Formats: sequence, C-alpha cells, structure tokens
Amino acid sequence: MKKKKLTTASGRPYTEFENSMTVGNRGPILLQDYFLHEDMAHFNRERIPERVVHAKGAGAFGTFTVTNDITQYTKAKIFSEIGKQTKMFARFSQVAGEKGSADSERDPRGFALKFYTEDGNWDLVGNNTPVFFIKDPKKFSHFIHTQKRDPKTNCKSWTMKWDFWSLTPESLHQVLILMSDRGTPLSYRNMNGYGSHTFSLFNKNNERIWVKFHFKTLQGIKNFNGKEADEMRGIDPDQAQRDLVETIEKKDFPKWALQIQLMTDEQAKTFKWNPFDITKVWFHKDFPLIDVGIMELNKIPENYFRDVEQSAFNPAHVIDGIGYSPDKMLQGRLLSYPDAHRYRLGTNYEQIPVNQCPYGHSNYQRDGLMQVGDNGGANPNYRPNSFDDIVVDESYKEPAMPMESNIADWFDRNENDDDHFTQPGILFSKVMNDQERKNTVSNIVSTMKDICGEKKDEIINRQLCHFFRADSQLGMAVSKGLGITINKKEINQIK
Ligand code: NDP
Repeated sequence: MKKKKLTTASGRPYTEFENSMTVGNRGPILLQDYFLHEDMAHFNRERIPERVVHAKGAGAFGTFTVTNDITQYTKAKIFSEIGKQTKMFARFSQVAGEKGSADSERDPRGFALKFYTEDGNWDLVGNNTPVFFIKDPKKFSHFIHTQKRDPKTNCKSWTMKWDFWSLTPESLHQVLILMSDRGTPLSYRNMNGYGSHTFSLFNKNNERIWVKFHFKTLQGIKNFNGKEADEMRGIDPDQAQRDLVETIEKKDFPKWALQIQLMTDEQAKTFKWNPFDITKVWFHKDFPLIDVGIMELNKIPENYFRDVEQSAFNPAHVIDGIGYSPDKMLQGRLLSYPDAHRYRLGTNYEQIPVNQCPYGHSNYQRDGLMQVGDNGGANPNYRPNSFDDIVVDESYKEPAMPMESNIADWFDRNENDDDHFTQPGILFSKVMNDQERKNTVSNIVSTMKDICGEKKDEIINRQLCHFFRADSQLGMAVSKGLGITINKKEINQIK
C-alpha cells in the first residue's frame, strides 16, 4: 500500500502528531500549533443533528432485478424489461430510539430504499409494517412525542403511549402488529418491508392504477419474543447492525421479493375502506400480490457516516411511471422529509454521494451552504433566458389526478371511516396462530402494567374497549392478564 503523508485539512504536511508545541518541556502550549487546534475544533463538530425519528439505523448497497413484466401498468424505466438491474441503497432503522438505542427495542422498523434510476432517484420510504398508527400528518409530531421521553422524567413512558393510542382508535391495527413478535424482528434480514402508503402507477398511455408495494423477505420472517428481545438489549444493543454487516461481508446476500397489489379507480370507489387510509390493508384475496423483482443487498458501505448517516430519503422522490395518491400521511411526508434533511444536512444534501442522482441533474438551484458541485458553472441561473441548453420534456408530464370534491374544509379524519377494528380483529383471530396470540397478549399486558398515575384506570378502560371491539377473545385475554374481571353484560355494552 502506498503510504500517504500526514497533513492538515488544507494539505500541508505536518511533522508532529504526538506532542503539542510548548515553551520549554514543561511550559504552556503555543497557539501556533495549528494541527492541534484544527483537530480539536473538527472533533467538536463531528456530530450532526440525529434524525428525530429513525435515528439508529444500518445500511447497505444492492441491486434490484426485474423478474416479471409489469409494463402494462407502469412506464417506470426501472421496470422496463425482465432482467434489468438497477443499483440501490437500503437503510433499516428503529423509529423512536436515539442513535445509541438498542436494536431489539419493541418498535416498527424503517425500511427505506433508494433506487438510482436514469429518470432520477426513486425513494420508497416505508416500514416493516403495512399500516401506520395515524392517518393524518397533523397528529405525527404528537404521536412521536409519546414514543420519546417524558418531558419531566426524561424516561420513556408506557403511560404516554397507551394514553395516545387509546385516544386514537385508528392506531389499533399498527399497535397490534407492534405488540406481536413482529414488533421485535430477529434481524433486518428477517422482516418484510412495505411502501405502506397507496401510490399510483401510470403506463405509456397515461392510464393510472393505484398500487401498494411489498418487499417479502426471502430469509423468512423471524422474530424475538418479548423476553428474548429484552435480553438482547443487554447482550448486544447493536445486534441487527452487526448481523447485517457480518452476513453481507460473508457474501450471504439477503434478498427480498418485490410484489405489488393493484386497485383500479372503479375498485377504489367501491372498496369497503378508504383505499388511501394508511391504517388499512388491501386483502390479498381481493387484490392478489403480483411478482415484480428481487432486491439483493450485497455491499456494506466503506464508511458508515458518509453513506448511512448522511443518506436522506424522500417519499416525494418518485419517477416517471410512479405517482402519489391522496393518502394524507403521504401528502404530509412529501413536505416533512426534505424539510428534515435541509435542517439536518443542509440545503445541498442531494450533493452528498449516497443521495446524488448518478445520471446528473439540471435546474436553476444555486449556491447555499456546502455547495460542492459545479454550481451550474457559467450557465444561466434564471428562466426564461435566451442562452439555455435545458429543455422541458413534455413526455414526462404526469396524468392529471381527478378529485372527488372541490370543497376545502377540515374534514374529520374518521368521518365515514371509523372501522378501526375489523382488520386488527382478523389479524388476531385468523392470521395469528395460538403461540403468536399468546405472545401478543403477553407483550400488551406487560407494557400496560406500566401505565401509572391518576389517569391509569381511564386509559386502561379506554384501550380495553378497543381490544374488545376488535375481538372479544383479545379483550378478555388482556383484561385477565391485567387482573380485571369483565362480565358479559359489560362486553355487550361496548359498541
Ligand atoms: P392473508 O391472510 O392473505 O395473509 C396474512 C398476512 O399477514 C401475510 O401478509 C402475513 O405476512 C401477515 N402477518 C402474519 N402475522 C402477522 C403479524 N403478526 N403482524 C403483521 N402481519 C402479519 O392476509 P389478508 O390480506 O387476508 O389480511 C388479513 C390480515 O392480515 C389483515 O387484516 C392485516 O392485519 C394482516 N396483513 C395483511 C396484509 C395485506 O397487505 N393484505 C399485509 C400484512 C398483514 P407474511 O406472508 O409475510 O408472513
């Protein structure tokens, strides 16, 4: 290996690394020992703001390969032919914990993907669950506050969590998944990923169809039970990060199958639930999974901070052939994600290598902190102008999206949309097996036992009613675990 000279950040070779320059052997340090100051000052600035959510995460580069033709639904070039390969980057994360938190915490897992396509980077920024706790972004910061630390004690609080969930009944579906053993995955490799929102696809005739994206793990779903997850927090808090690195370094590359569900506009109009409500799934038997391709992760970044910490995903990053939907949570995230990156990484965060579109970009954005590209060179920085070589390609125009109403108002998020119980009820009673039900109840009970304070009974009763509304066996089992006796008459009174 060719050796390099030790230098300052500006490239000046520096000869003394170990000892500071002093006046005499035992005298004070001189200000002119620049290397000392430069090093100390840089060290003081090493940390950038951690993500408010998804702070702890692991990432890897990989490849997406098309295995099935879906060009009748989308003109997205990433899917243009069977066998086509696209480079990509994935970041998995915990949601609520800080950067140093344990990987086996009970929490949804982030499942963020960036595909480097010739029509720009496509980011699918989902979770390991197909649904979410809330359906309106106005509640997001409030929800996250309950998952973080109590303002006085600075401790995590099950009272805050169950208080919010019990007052937000649409959370029940996601709460049940979180409380099942899928809330503590064995590794990032052993969990599914979901785009979660409804998106749209449009083909070369500009015909639009609604879509949900599913990434099914080919390693099989494996989870910790509650006790194992608790133990792992002490044994190895970085266990999922370590697992991803070690497996990929051993060339045992993890893979996921991308499948989609499709819903026509006609079907959307008659669908039992709001198809743009992120607290609901589309049943597989009604909207069967269609194979699309395989995602393989095959390279751990050489430098974690450069590529993983500085990676910035944005649900607004769609590409030609893929569009948004009226899903309110998606609409909120279109604004909040790039806003968070501008705060955390600066306005030119798209220039950071992992975020850059390898096929280039051309527009009129200039200057700003940490502008390290060519900044548009001598080209015009305004439009219209008489000198430009940038053209607008009309063939990329997205088809118009018809709206059902032209009335602007604050509509109640749950108006005509208040069945929060059927789907979680099916999950508990029909999808889970006996052991999964038992573990789910045990995880719920052990966390609800920590609810404390003057509102304890009120919170517990409110949440128990939600469990009963979903499935009476679930309600009974949790009540029993909490030592609460419920009689038949009381159950019948729960609407
Ligand atoms: P199916 O009966 O066709 O399949 C059950 C689905 O549930 C599978 O996708 C399975 O994932 C997933 N699953 C199993 N255990 C859990 C768990 N503890 N937490 C979360 N997901 C789990 O599903 P249906 O479409 O008929 O829907 C029935 C219920 O299944 C829904 O109400 C919903 O709660 C749940 N579900 C549905 C999904 C969908 O997109 N339709 C997706 C995920 C869950 P896998 O096959 O990977 O094991």
